Amino acid sequence: MVALTKAQAARQVARLASVRPELAEAYAVALRRWLGDPILVVLGRPFVSEGYRSVQEQDELYTHGRSAPGPIVTYKRGGESKHNELPSKALDVAFLLPDGTTSWSPELLSKFARLMKAADVRVHWGGDWPGFKDRPHFEV
Ligand SMILES: [Zn+2]
Repeated sequence: MVALTKAQAARQVARLASVRPELAEAYAVALRRWLGDPILVVLGRPFVSEGYRSVQEQDELYTHGRSAPGPIVTYKRGGESKHNELPSKALDVAFLLPDGTTSWSPELLSKFARLMKAADVRVHWGGDWPGFKDRPHFEV
């Protein structure tokens, strides 16, 4: 089983503190189920890669795939994203793999999304959106 370092664990606490309580609670429930499942737990360790994001950070992200290199990662400008509210109405999830790398595997995210949606019906998954699929993204 992949464990977080102390610094990583501290960042998780800070990120979860920046999101709405019902979303943080749904994540906590989904994470407990993931870590308690002997099959899922060996695939990787879910973690919150982002909670609240400032308007400036959102504007910077918006440049990705536009004026900056790389793929487009968001269609929201600063202030338009649910990440830009405080507390944040959105969080993003990634996985720490047994080899130490970070993964945004659609398969892992889809498995985790099932647990998130089961934990709280108010949680919506970006992977269910028509058109642009934002699979790391969960919001209330
Ligand atoms: Zn997001």
